[in-house]
Amino acid sequence: MRKIGIDLGTCNSLVFIPGKGVVLQEPSVVAVSHQENRILAVGEKAKEMTGRTPDTIRVYRPLKNGVIADFRVTQAMLKYFIDKTCGFMRFFKPELVIGVPAGITSTERRAVIEAALNAGAKQAYLAKEPILAAIGAGIPINACSGNMIVDIGGGTSEIAVISLGGIVTCHSIRTGGDKMDLAISDYIKKKYNLAIGEQTAEEIKIKIGTALPEKEEKKLEIRGRDLILGLPKTIKISSNEISEAISDIISDIIQAIKMVLRETPPELSADVIDKGMILSGGGALVRNIAERISRETGVPCLLAEEPLLCVAKGTGVVLENLDVYKKSIMSKK
Ligand code: ADP
Ligand code: MG
Repeated sequence: MRKIGIDLGTCNSLVFIPGKGVVLQEPSVVAVSHQENRILAVGEKAKEMTGRTPDTIRVYRPLKNGVIADFRVTQAMLKYFIDKTCGFMRFFKPELVIGVPAGITSTERRAVIEAALNAGAKQAYLAKEPILAAIGAGIPINACSGNMIVDIGGGTSEIAVISLGGIVTCHSIRTGGDKMDLAISDYIKKKYNLAIGEQTAEEIKIKIGTALPEKEEKKLEIRGRDLILGLPKTIKISSNEISEAISDIISDIIQAIKMVLRETPPELSADVIDKGMILSGGGALVRNIAERISRETGVPCLLAEEPLLCVAKGTGVVLENLDVYKKSIMSKK
């Protein structure tokens, strides 16, 4: 248990321990009390507080667009995850492999390493998320052949073509599951004059969201506040309405995929057409998203197994085979 892998995501953080697998999966959320300047809750408990706090408590998502936006809070969150998985009373400092966005700057990189060291790590190795996602999805990334991975997270989506263990072309956009939630609450506000919270919007997306309209619609009863009367109200909403609400967000992701395809050298394009692109990240779980992407790009699109776990599993494979994946590690300290 001296080495652990961490997927420090904008929405969810995961910890992988070799021999044990994914041992922690919690929202990257921290609740802070302003009066005492104290951390009240991290993870699941903090997320439940979202939209339900008095003004003395603030709920933070300390990572934005995949990088650290609030250093102190991120460090506290990392420490909580390390302590929770390695034990509070431990005699060793663990070595970490942490996934970071492919486009991260050197300053942002140093911040992640420093946060990890302050949180109790002996060493921190960083690796690019698209590479880790691909490894975690079971793609043989070191082969002499093009593989395309599309990771749709909460705040960002990263699209990359990988060959011989490295990224050949890639593009990252600041769009993902969070923007879908926002689009859903905007849609409901406009159409029904109903205000709903962030968590309700996410729940709607997860329960009935779809990337393509369906013949057999799903319905869901939702609660919010009527914007005209100001009173609580319940309405029924259908999956096809949600498909309309999130359609533009999915189009943006598809535009970015097309851009990467256009920039991919022909030999690798041919490989990608043969094998199809692989979808990972929580956004890949939106129903019918693979069908819509392959329909609009003309390239087959497959869902990775357990898309939410790909990056974490990738850190595990790298930890267990450090010499095979030496090249994939960006920087260390
Ligand atoms: P990140 O890497 O940014 O932390 P994740 O890969 O953990 O993001 O994905 C989080 C996103 O996936 C959130 O927007 C969440 O709402 C969404 N998500 C999770 N499960 C589902 C699901 N079953 N259907 C649709 N979206 C989902
Ligand atoms: Mg992620």
